[in-house]
Amino acid sequence: MGADLYDVLLFWASDRMWRGKSLATILAYIERLEAVGAVEFVNEVHLNNRDQDPMVRNILFANAFGMSYGESERKAERTRMDIASKRSSGSAHGRAPWGYVVECQTCGKATRRLEDGSVERWGHKDNKRFVPTALGRRWIPVIYDLVLTGNSLRNIAEYLTNEGVPTTGGKIWSGKAARTVSAPCTGFGASTAVSATPAAARLRC
Ligand SMILES: [Zn+2]
Repeated sequence: MGADLYDVLLFWASDRMWRGKSLATILAYIERLEAVGAVEFVNEVHLNNRDQDPMVRNILFANAFGMSYGESERKAERTRMDIASKRSSGSAHGRAPWGYVVECQTCGKATRRLEDGSVERWGHKDNKRFVPTALGRRWIPVIYDLVLTGNSLRNIAEYLTNEGVPTTGGKIWSGKAARTVSAPCTGFGASTAVSATPAAARLRC
């Protein structure tokens, strides 16, 4: 890190610096940064007092990094457990792509979005499937054909718009949305955002 690069290097929070490095590594890193200019934290102002005894300051850093790291690990673990539990039960996870609804296999009801934007709940958990709608059954094979015959996503989006195929959110088709619909045959990740379907039903019946 060259001299005169900055006067104050501002971090939002100490967890932006930590990323699971060893404590010695991160303390040496801060020392190198502070040889050039000041290091400050927006959300942990108690770390900004450079008049403190270096030993005390290192202890405060160690404490801040330890807490940030523990919290992000717990969050990651909760997410992993949630996904794992849905996978092991064979339940669909996440939003339904365009042309599909999330259907509860316990009661057979499709998840519906109500007028106030909330999602209808039926009290059944983890027994969901993505089921094609009438619109999906009509158009998804057409989209697949267009992909397989080499059409660009933009061409497909234009075609769907011209044909008057509705999107979930009432917007026009974009290449991004068409890519999501055609995910299984193009190899693009199914988690790609469906830009034309912001109101896609969430998994919650
Ligand atoms: Zn149900």
